[in-house]
Amino acid sequence: MKVSILAVGTELLFGQTINTNAAYLSKKLQLKGFNVMYHYVVGDNPNRLKQQLADAFEHADMVILTGGLGPTQDDLTKEMVAEYMGAELVLDQRVYEELNAFFAKVGRKMSANNMKQAYMPEGCTPFYNAAGTAPGFALERDGRIAICLPGPPREMSWLYENCLDQYLDKFVDKKIFYRVVRTMGIGESDLETMLLPLIDGQTDPTIATYAKEGEVAVRITSQRDSMEEAEAAVTDMIAAMSDICGEYIYSINDEEMNEVVVRLLKNRGLTVSSAESCTGGKFAVSITDVPGASNVFGHGYVTYSVDAKVGVLGLDRELIEDKGVVSAEVAEEMAVAARHLSGSDIAVSITGYAGPDADEGFNPGTAYIGYAYEGCSGSRLIKRRAVDRAWNRNNFTLNMQRTVYLILKGEL
Ligand code: AMP
Ligand code: MG
Repeated sequence: MKVSILAVGTELLFGQTINTNAAYLSKKLQLKGFNVMYHYVVGDNPNRLKQQLADAFEHADMVILTGGLGPTQDDLTKEMVAEYMGAELVLDQRVYEELNAFFAKVGRKMSANNMKQAYMPEGCTPFYNAAGTAPGFALERDGRIAICLPGPPREMSWLYENCLDQYLDKFVDKKIFYRVVRTMGIGESDLETMLLPLIDGQTDPTIATYAKEGEVAVRITSQRDSMEEAEAAVTDMIAAMSDICGEYIYSINDEEMNEVVVRLLKNRGLTVSSAESCTGGKFAVSITDVPGASNVFGHGYVTYSVDAKVGVLGLDRELIEDKGVVSAEVAEEMAVAARHLSGSDIAVSITGYAGPDADEGFNPGTAYIGYAYEGCSGSRLIKRRAVDRAWNRNNFTLNMQRTVYLILKGEL
């Protein structure tokens, strides 16, 4: 079934409010097996709203509207939808009583404006709103379905979860199963090129790649008659994917890299420590973000200045002056020192340029990650031409996590 989403509210057009309702609904609808055709945004203007509704129904069987269901003069969505669908507005006794009870409870008198919320299109399926005062509804006429939900995201999602989701079931005949496979160490276009033999000509499961910060996620979705069939199709596709690019896959369950690292360390009974310069402790934070990190995390040294690298980690000042503070040697020595001082099984370190400005001829985005574990130490060069400081620091942190991951996988 084809669905479009029509968000109503002048504040959306002004950019004051971000249209998160459309994103929320699209995700939910897609997972349920609906084809989302268009997102529209229209201001609080009755004529344009009605015109847009008519246009939307040219391309979709169902239009879900959000916003404009409140009690004020500019809230006209319900009136316009009823008019367009040719339905009268009639008093809904339950909404009327609930509104009365609500105003009695808060000790306010119900105004004529508020009364308007008790009127619903004749013959609609009402969605009673326990998260606010404006009810939603679905109205079916001549094969067209208009659905109205309130604008406040909390109320909209409450109504979706508690009413609309169930209402939509009757339009769904297929079951959907999906997994998000997470990869790191390869760019989106390279990954897509590798996966082209699988993507080309595939209608089910579908494969979609999404670039995230510092990594690429791949969503594999199947829509079949039964959940078992859909899951089997996705499992087969992941196996085929692993044959092609398994070295980059770190999770087939949409886990974050820090979660995977903590899980692997825990399973192996190993501990990790860190010595960080340009990330300022972000790696330590990312590991301790994960519940259960106390079993696996030892010590996080934040040694930003040269003095700290010398004073805390005991690095040789001459080495730093000779090789440069951002160098493979300094990164390696930082990791070796962190491992020695903490007594952890594994240590990682970082020294680099977060930007935004170029420094000593190095481009921002350049860093060395050092590592040390039983009988082995070394460093990896990370080089991305990125001037955004926050992006770089996040990318560096992910790469420190990945370094531990590669050690645990026996690949470093
Ligand atoms: P309304 O139902 O039109 O009175 O909307 C009430 C409030 O909900 C607005 O002031 C916005 O803050 C919020 N809102 C309305 N539409 C959206 C939307 N599409 N996405 C996110 N927030 C919204
Ligand atoms: Mg509004």
